[in-house]
Amino acid sequence: MTVAATPQSFSAGVKAELCREIPAKRCCAVAEIYGILLFCNTFSDTTVRIVTESRDFAWMLPKLLRKAFAMDFDEFPSMAAPGKLVFQITEPDKIAYLMEVYGFERENTLALHVNLAMLEEECCRTAFLRGAFLAGGSVTDPGKGYHMEMATAHHAVARETHALIGEAMGFEAKIAGRGGSKVLYLKHSDLISDALTFLGAPVSAMGIMEAKLEKELKNKVNRRCNCDDANTSKVVDAAQGQLNAIRILRERKLLDGLPEKLKQAAVAREANPEASLSELAAMMLPPITKPAMNHRLKKLMELAKEPGKEGT
Ligand SMILES: [Zn+2]
Repeated sequence: MTVAATPQSFSAGVKAELCREIPAKRCCAVAEIYGILLFCNTFSDTTVRIVTESRDFAWMLPKLLRKAFAMDFDEFPSMAAPGKLVFQITEPDKIAYLMEVYGFERENTLALHVNLAMLEEECCRTAFLRGAFLAGGSVTDPGKGYHMEMATAHHAVARETHALIGEAMGFEAKIAGRGGSKVLYLKHSDLISDALTFLGAPVSAMGIMEAKLEKELKNKVNRRCNCDDANTSKVVDAAQGQLNAIRILRERKLLDGLPEKLKQAAVAREANPEASLSELAAMMLPPITKPAMNHRLKKLMELAKEPGKEGT
C-alpha cells in the first residue's frame, strides 16, 4: 500500500526556495544564524531549540551552523521522521560562545536585542531577515489569502526587526501581539511579493502575483457571467409576456384590426422571440427608437389585458 504524499504548502515551497543554497560569505552565514536564533522557538542561556516542518530548512540548518561557527547541534532529528523536526543546542560552552559572538550577556537573555553592529553590511541584513523568516515565519497560500508573517518571543527584537524591514525593504510591516509573542506581518500581495523577492525567493514571489492575476480574472469573468445571465433572463421574461399578449389578441381576432404600427410590432415580435428591443426597433418600417418600440409592445400588452368583447 502506498501513502499519497501530501501536497507541499506554499510556505514550504518558499522555504525550499530560500534553502537551495547556503550563503556564500561567512558574514552572511553568521547573520542568518542570528536571525534564526532570535526568531526560533527557544534561545536562552541554557537551550537553543529550533522546531521546523520544512525538510529543506532542516537540510540546510546544520550546514549553515557549521559554516558560521564550525559547530554541530547536540540534538538533531532523523530526516525520515514525520511531522515537526527539532534541533537543539544544550552544551553550555556552545551557548556561551553564541551569546558572546552576538554580544549578549548570559545573565541577561530575557531582553534580547538586535545588535545592529552584527548587521552593518547589506548582504548580512538580508541574511538576517531570511533566517528570521525561516525560523519564525510563514506565508499563506495566495489562493486562500494574502498573509506573510514572522513571530518572535522577544519584543525588542520585533520592534528592531520592524525598523530593519522598513530600512531594507522600503515598506512598513504591521506588528501585533499573539500570546506572549510579537508578530510582524504583511497583508498586501504586492508587499509580500516584494518581500519574497528581497529574501531570495523570486519564483514564489511570482506565484503570489500569478495567483492575484488569476483571482482578478476569475472575478471579472464571474461578474460578466452574472450580468449576462441577468440580462438574458430579463429579455426572455419580457418577450414571453409580449408573446402571450399577442397570442391573446390573435385568439380574440383583434390583431388585424390594430393600427398598422402595432400590427407591425406584433408580427416582428412573433417572428423574433429572442430579439432585443433595439433589434426589433430596427425592423420597423420606418425604423423607430428603442423607447418607441417599448411603447408599442407595452400597448399590445395593455390591449391584451382589456376584458374581451368578442362573442358578446
Ligand atoms: Zn554578509
